[in-house]
Amino acid sequence: MKENICTIPINDIFKMSDGCPICNMHNMLEEQYVEFITGSAMMAPDVRVVTNKKGFCHHHYEKMIKHGPRLSNALLLQTHLDEIRNAVFKEKSNTILSKSSLEYIDKLSTSCYVCDRIEHDIIHLLKTVFAQYGIDEEFRKLYKNQKYLCLEHFAFIMKNLNKKSIDKKYLSEFCDVTTSLCKNYINALYDDVTKFTTMFDYRNAGKDFENSKDSIERSVKFLTAKDIT
Ligand SMILES: [Zn+2]
Ligand SMILES: [Zn+2]
Repeated sequence: MKENICTIPINDIFKMSDGCPICNMHNMLEEQYVEFITGSAMMAPDVRVVTNKKGFCHHHYEKMIKHGPRLSNALLLQTHLDEIRNAVFKEKSNTILSKSSLEYIDKLSTSCYVCDRIEHDIIHLLKTVFAQYGIDEEFRKLYKNQKYLCLEHFAFIMKNLNKKSIDKKYLSEFCDVTTSLCKNYINALYDDVTKFTTMFDYRNAGKDFENSKDSIERSVKFLTAKDIT
């Protein structure tokens, strides 16, 4: 498989200005990979070798079953199940499970082809974000004007940021802006959730909930990087 089988334009993502841009990046890639894996990837033996080995997490199995053809899902599962039974149940006698088999099953429970591909691609895309921030004034403005960064992706950006990936001149500014995008939003959420709780006081009966109305859903999205559906 080519390295960039799924591509997304960074500028378009940051221009959406709707929620966390890395969540939007993640969702776009996820949609593309789910379609790819149950579509054209069926004809790519090198991808099947990896999906047979890694399998998928529950969340992505659900998406694949919901959006992909039944036959593609069955074919993917057929060869994945076969790989597992050959790895774990190759002995004729049913004796105590070997340490390596236990480790194999354990590893499988946290392994997902789609999750791994998305993480790999986001790290790659972040490198472009860091580089762009150092050379493009328009992009710096765009980045500063994001609505917020969710907690997980704030940490993800900071984890993947190193001094070499961004122009030295802009490193501290980038850290400041990135931190503010997360910090300002958590402060706003705190205020909104607080307001929400006060609305149950009889003295506030009939008053407008304003921004606090969806503060529970927005807080969960901020904390888990996922929408409540
Ligand atoms: Zn996010
Ligand atoms: Zn997954």
